[in-house]
Amino acid sequence: MAKLMIGDGGDAAYVVCVPVTTPLYFVDNVLGACTVCGAEVQHRPDIPVGIPLICIACFSARATDGDEFVITPKTAAEVRAFFRRH
Ligand SMILES: [Zn+2]
Repeated sequence: MAKLMIGDGGDAAYVVCVPVTTPLYFVDNVLGACTVCGAEVQHRPDIPVGIPLICIACFSARATDGDEFVITPKTAAEVRAFFRRH
């Protein structure tokens, strides 16, 4: 069981990130790579340092019912917007 962070959080196993978009969701978003598949992802510049990034696809494949999620309302809206487009 993993603790997964979406948005602001502290001691999570992963930071869940959306793929790189053009334009980025926010102009100051930072680019990174999924720790599992290497896909390019984007995240906010203020996430805690040292927590591996994971893309939504890998996150979806790994998440289990027992996982704990930390998500901000703003990020929840972003994730919903992402899935409406895909
Ligand atoms: Zn991935």
